[in-house]
Amino acid sequence: MDEELTVESAIAPPDLSCPKCEGLLPPELGEISCLLCEARVRVEHPVTRRAWAEEKVACPSCNSVLISGVERRPASLQCSTCDSQFRITANVPKAEVRCPSCERRIRMTKRPGLRDITCPACETMFRVNF
Ligand SMILES: [Zn+2]
Ligand SMILES: [Zn+2]
Ligand SMILES: [Zn+2]
Repeated sequence: MDEELTVESAIAPPDLSCPKCEGLLPPELGEISCLLCEARVRVEHPVTRRAWAEEKVACPSCNSVLISGVERRPASLQCSTCDSQFRITANVPKAEVRCPSCERRIRMTKRPGLRDITCPACETMFRVNF
């Protein structure tokens, strides 16, 4: 079976916080659940929707650039040049934190909530909250 081809969208909705617990919501639009308090929230952001529809993506199999044309993520796209199908996935926001002990910068995916991190350089444990 063919492995599914995916491309990560370069466009993320703005950081929005949950109206109930004020935690960071996942970077999605529409009806989403807060990962922290499980509240169901409706989030709309027309600017992001439009940017998604107009986003240029490179086909992962032939590299030709096409306009996504769909106002949601994830979505399935078909390349008009080589006909291969692929998925465009939601953008995964990255954040940079600094180790409080040795000041090394650590890049990580931004996931809502508290996380314990061990610094790869000095092995200090610390906690981050997004
Ligand atoms: Zn919440
Ligand atoms: Zn293609
Ligand atoms: Zn450190």
